[in-house]
Amino acid sequence: MAVPYILKRSRKRRKTISLQISNKSEVVVSAPYFTPGSEINRFIQEKQIWINKSIQKQKTAQLQIKKNEYVSGEEFYYLGEPYPLEIFFQQDLPAGLVFWSNRFYLNCKEGSAKGEYYFFKWYKAKAQEYFSKRLNFLSYHLQLLPGKIRITSAQQRWGSCSEENNIAFTFRLMMAPPTVIDYVIIHELMHIKGKNHSANFWKLVEVVMPEYKTHRRWLKDNGHKFGLSRV
Ligand SMILES: [Zn+2]
Repeated sequence: MAVPYILKRSRKRRKTISLQISNKSEVVVSAPYFTPGSEINRFIQEKQIWINKSIQKQKTAQLQIKKNEYVSGEEFYYLGEPYPLEIFFQQDLPAGLVFWSNRFYLNCKEGSAKGEYYFFKWYKAKAQEYFSKRLNFLSYHLQLLPGKIRITSAQQRWGSCSEENNIAFTFRLMMAPPTVIDYVIIHELMHIKGKNHSANFWKLVEVVMPEYKTHRRWLKDNGHKFGLSRV
């Protein structure tokens, strides 16, 4: 059966065709510019089982994503620890979210749809700052030079490294413990040396972080807790 897919042809890509499932469960194929259609179709057919499995897995995970309510007492994760939220409403103070003394303070009406927006903004700003610092530090020590850094809202992909070595991380990682974040950064940095997940790639990760499997497992087991409703 033919699978509908989105095709991205790239002049920069040399040999490999790669496959991704988007947040909306679309099949996205990236291929070198002149790859014949027949070859792309064959590639998709070969990956059919993987595609079905991945889409199924994604749908299950999306169902499990916790729906936040943005009410006082609800806990939100930051760097692996849960912190309670306190909502107050004071019109003369700027609306928005503040993290202070192990507590989140949100100035907006309780249960208002704005809660989600303010948390999203807060996590994203934290992620910008945290990832650029940590990536600088780790890339310097590993002597690897990444391209640009970008923060995404991806629900399934923790990070990615493009053909041009531009690195992206989802803001949701700000809810994970620092060691897990380091694992994702190291993982993406190692893609500068190799774009696939070959045995050799994992060896490179293991040299830098011998316990990486624990962190990978942690993301698999806990990832579904990190959905901020539907941002
Ligand atoms: Zn990878």
